Amino acid sequence: MSILAIPHLEWHVTHSCNFTCQGCGHYTNDGYKEDITIDTLKEWYLLWNKRIRPRELSILGGEPLLNPRIVEIIYMTKEYWNIKEDQEFELVSNGLLFDRIDGLSDALIDTNCILTITKHSKDSNYTRLFDKAINSIDKSGVKYRIHDASENWYLVYTGYGCSIEPIGSDSYEESWDNCPGGQENFQLLDGKIYKCGALAYLPLQKQKYGDALSPKWDPYLKYRPLLPTDSDIDVLEFFTRTAETVCSMCPKNKHYYSKDTPLHSPRYVKSLYDTK
Ligand code: SF4
Repeated sequence: MSILAIPHLEWHVTHSCNFTCQGCGHYTNDGYKEDITIDTLKEWYLLWNKRIRPRELSILGGEPLLNPRIVEIIYMTKEYWNIKEDQEFELVSNGLLFDRIDGLSDALIDTNCILTITKHSKDSNYTRLFDKAINSIDKSGVKYRIHDASENWYLVYTGYGCSIEPIGSDSYEESWDNCPGGQENFQLLDGKIYKCGALAYLPLQKQKYGDALSPKWDPYLKYRPLLPTDSDIDVLEFFTRTAETVCSMCPKNKHYYSKDTPLHSPRYVKSLYDTK
């Protein structure tokens, strides 16, 4: 069995988040409280680490720094995926908890893991906390970069919580051309690999809300991810597939907007939608 080079693989180490971003593409603005354990992550990695070799590997969430085992996870991930110099190892975070995690800087430096900090908003209360976090990160010596998403976020669904509805499209090809997931952000979840975060984490919303979730999501809940039992041909076909019909879940045009503060509580955000 030969190992297949793929562009990118990412996964949640927690579904919990300390932010409530409007329109979160992974739905983790919705008050989830669930960390992925180290043993579970090892199981997922071992199912794939001899079959695929991602050029980029990204640890994310939710907010990954909420997982209390994050330092061990960073070291273990480097070891289990045998990440080399020609690959990029990344931790994506909102940065606000950076100072609170013992050993985090050392782990990032030791494993050559780059810290990507997403900037979510231009709101002044948020920006003050963001700037403080960046100041600490800058002094720590870790390699980091800022992904400024304060003005170029775009919605893939409307509503919040159980009221979410896909914006949808009459052309899955055009939706794919404007893919909000970046076309290559394959997700590892429960040992399976999904085309994108929007498809991977949608079943969490279904588990949470059951029949209260709009039936407009039903076609996308039928999406079949890549399974560890699938053949090498299936794996190759999966990673070379481009537009597929499930992409009609996403809008065909980009609806850019400037994000509100991500610091509201889920309860407050829910109340805003309930009054609409
Ligand atoms: S469903 Fe298709 S267009 Fe939408 S985020 Fe996923 S891969 Fe991209």
